[in-house]
Amino acid sequence: MQNYLFTSDIFKGSRYEKGHPLDMDRVWPSVELIELMGWVKEEQIIKNKPAEIEELIKFHDLEYVKALKKAEEELDLPEYLKRKYNIGIGNNPIFSEVFSRPASAAKASIKAVEMIANKQAKKILNISGGTHHGRKSEAYGFCFLNDCVLAILKAIELGFSKVLYVDIDAHHCDGVQDVFLNNEKVTIISIHEKNRWPQTGKLEENKINNIMNFPVSESFNDSEIDYVINNAVIPYAKSIQPDLLIIQAGADMLNGDPQSRISLSNNAYWRAIKDILLLCESSIILGGGGYNPYLTAKAWAGNWVLLNDRDYLLDSDMPEECSNLLSSLKWNNSRVRMGIPTQWLKSWRDHDVKTIVGAEVISLVKNVLSMKSL
Ligand SMILES: [Zn+2]
Repeated sequence: MQNYLFTSDIFKGSRYEKGHPLDMDRVWPSVELIELMGWVKEEQIIKNKPAEIEELIKFHDLEYVKALKKAEEELDLPEYLKRKYNIGIGNNPIFSEVFSRPASAAKASIKAVEMIANKQAKKILNISGGTHHGRKSEAYGFCFLNDCVLAILKAIELGFSKVLYVDIDAHHCDGVQDVFLNNEKVTIISIHEKNRWPQTGKLEENKINNIMNFPVSESFNDSEIDYVINNAVIPYAKSIQPDLLIIQAGADMLNGDPQSRISLSNNAYWRAIKDILLLCESSIILGGGGYNPYLTAKAWAGNWVLLNDRDYLLDSDMPEECSNLLSSLKWNNSRVRMGIPTQWLKSWRDHDVKTIVGAEVISLVKNVLSMKSL
């Protein structure tokens, strides 16, 4: 059985409106980095079409999905529909692929579960997935559909009984947690920055049976994510014995990302994912947040080698073709006004920074474990 890399042609040339945090490219550059490195065989890459409406309404409201399709067709919506569905308002702009793009990501996540259930694949990376804020009938937090929820629902439909969803995006996975509260077939673990939008995922929410949340402060460091993973996430997850693992691997906790204050190195990010992957043979890694195109493309390309248990490849130098691809990406952000930092373009791994586990994280882990009777 092979592992697969899921993507879609729609991501090349599709952008959110000018000035939006997603007015940049992340998905196709990740795939091209993987190809340039020779890390994938052509037959392992699967390009997905948009999901059918029938597939989307397993979670989303039909009228909402129709409105999203209409927004794409007409590049506009009547005011009352915009307000009703939060489409074309604030950070959820109408753009030319506003339906087809998230529907392609959703299709990929649904198909990933199907292929694993049918024993056609062992592990799958769907870089385009991870839209964890999407609501049943509302666009929310840049997310028009929720591929994470659709994937978990598909897993339950196909007979998985212990789905473990682990989310390391800087933002809490409110859209996923809300749907599966107290669902005994699903366990949701999230590490996220506290006091940050959407303001959910608080410590008290650990009282809910199947939910484990780590709201961490902006000083959260490399040693501390190791500590949380090894002392709480792994023991709790092992007690569940998952039959399917879904990792939302948002890259917005990395040092240099503009949408969080947390500054992890990619070494810590990859170590966390590697440790979590050991929990289950059947695994899907999704994307998610990640608003620095250089760091995000490297992080997600690296996830492909982790998935294939070849993380030593990340110790290699970055060839010039890869550095050139990264430096060609346009990013309208003050962090690169004076030029793109060499470190982002020339090597896979960040420099290791010496850190220690602070009292706040030790106490957080202790509190969470006691709330879970571990
Ligand atoms: Zn995020």
